[in-house]
Amino acid sequence: MKYIFVTGGVVSSLGKGLAAASIGALLEHRGLKTLMQKFDPYLNVDPGTMSPFQHGEVYVLDDGAETDLDLGHYERFTSGVMSRLNNLTSGQVFDAVIKKERRGDYLGKTVQFIPHVTDEIKARIHMVTDTNPDVDVLITEIGGTVGDMEGLLFIEALRQFALEVGKDNVCFIHVTLLPYIKAAGEVKTKPTQQSVAKLRELGIQPDIIICRTEADLDEDNRKKIAMFCNVEKKNVVAFRDVAHTIYECPLDLRRDKIDRLVVDKIGLGHTPSPALDDWEHFVRRVIHPKHKVTIAVAGKYVELQDAYKSIYESLIHAGAHHDTKVNIIRVEAEAVEDHGAKAVIGDVDGILVPGGFGDRGIEGKILAAQYARENKIPYFGICLGMQIATIEFARNVCKLRGANSTEFDKNSPFPVICLQEEQKGVEDMGATMRLGSCVSVLFAGTRASDLYGGADRIHERHRHRYEFNSDFQDKLQECGLVISSVSEKEGLVEIVELPDHPFYLGAQFHPEFQSKPNHPHPLFAGFVKAALESAQAK
Ligand code: GLN
Repeated sequence: MKYIFVTGGVVSSLGKGLAAASIGALLEHRGLKTLMQKFDPYLNVDPGTMSPFQHGEVYVLDDGAETDLDLGHYERFTSGVMSRLNNLTSGQVFDAVIKKERRGDYLGKTVQFIPHVTDEIKARIHMVTDTNPDVDVLITEIGGTVGDMEGLLFIEALRQFALEVGKDNVCFIHVTLLPYIKAAGEVKTKPTQQSVAKLRELGIQPDIIICRTEADLDEDNRKKIAMFCNVEKKNVVAFRDVAHTIYECPLDLRRDKIDRLVVDKIGLGHTPSPALDDWEHFVRRVIHPKHKVTIAVAGKYVELQDAYKSIYESLIHAGAHHDTKVNIIRVEAEAVEDHGAKAVIGDVDGILVPGGFGDRGIEGKILAAQYARENKIPYFGICLGMQIATIEFARNVCKLRGANSTEFDKNSPFPVICLQEEQKGVEDMGATMRLGSCVSVLFAGTRASDLYGGADRIHERHRHRYEFNSDFQDKLQECGLVISSVSEKEGLVEIVELPDHPFYLGAQFHPEFQSKPNHPHPLFAGFVKAALESAQAK
């Protein structure tokens, strides 16, 4: 087993996750079986309880783990399937240590940061590799920036780990920033030197330094960084701002042969150079599409780059599949409330309402769904967006005035979306939603069944508390709503759709967590296709 540890320096938001995912992609293209994991030094047990303002999207895995959005990059860039073991937070580490202490596992010892906490971190790395014995390389990204107090125990654990498994089996990669100072017209290497010095103070000498730069990395700066960071010049790698899409990142890192440097360090140099044709083909389709559609995403966190990350990526995958640029307009749902749907989203080719919690902007989303339904604009509702479509249909087609979800109106006369019995007594907010993948049956003859290629069963990931209320199923169906999928075990409604509409579909699950660059999710592919047809018809 070989290990790659990716740390970050100077500032956050350097694209460390993308760098790690890109390395994963390149190694996989060399024929190596790769798995990825993320360490997050914060104290939350998982990001499930964090606001999107704090954290961006919460990425949900098959096993229901609520994880950092970098795991989304890992799953999109590689074929590795992640589990809850692949995202470790300080919250989990301390929780485990304290539980062991209470059980008496430490047998009278004083429980200390070193060795007990660091041992717990190292044990997690072994746990991941033990449960995936066929993996060749484990790539671990350490969140935060070297020098942060909360990251120190993780860094110390890695230092010990490298000694224990043998330094030849480990490659340390440090991702830093080379700021460009406009007034001086110069790229500065000092922050990189200082951040590497900090890492070396903690006992880790990076093998490779990845330099995020706006401009190119010239020879002089490469030499300087090599000399003062104590690495060979060839191991100073440029990671430029990509021009069009994040899927260019592996191709950019490949220019300095990062994968070769890594495999040489960990003794896997016999593997063939990566053939990246499929990847390049995908990137070409993203950059030079024939067609264009405009899709409005009407949500609550639209000003944040990362809140709907996987949805934006899924639209790009589906767009590339149809040779189409998806121009995404992010619409604040409250703006639809204030100005009306026609004014805000009157000329788009498709409307997507993503997942969400809480009642801000709900009425705006309902107006957006109504506008899409009445004007035959393709509509795709995801999780909350499916619940919105149901509420809108109940109110305006079935004439159930005041229909709502009990999340927003406890006293609604027609609670078409409500809590299941087992959710009613839930007090803890962390990890108590309906989470993770489950099997649902698809009904033949529906649009959903067509899109999934006639499959009769699907596996999709969930993250929600509220459900379609089966008491209203008959009424809504009589009025024309089609239920095209229900969960196999409980019979919970999973997909609703409307016939006689170019595309009007809501999914209670999150298809965006299973879309990949060359394998767009069928529902996204269907939605973008419908939007394209609607654009072409205009
Ligand atoms: N708030 C809704 C629920 O809890 C929808 C959740 C979501 O969109 N992820 O059921």
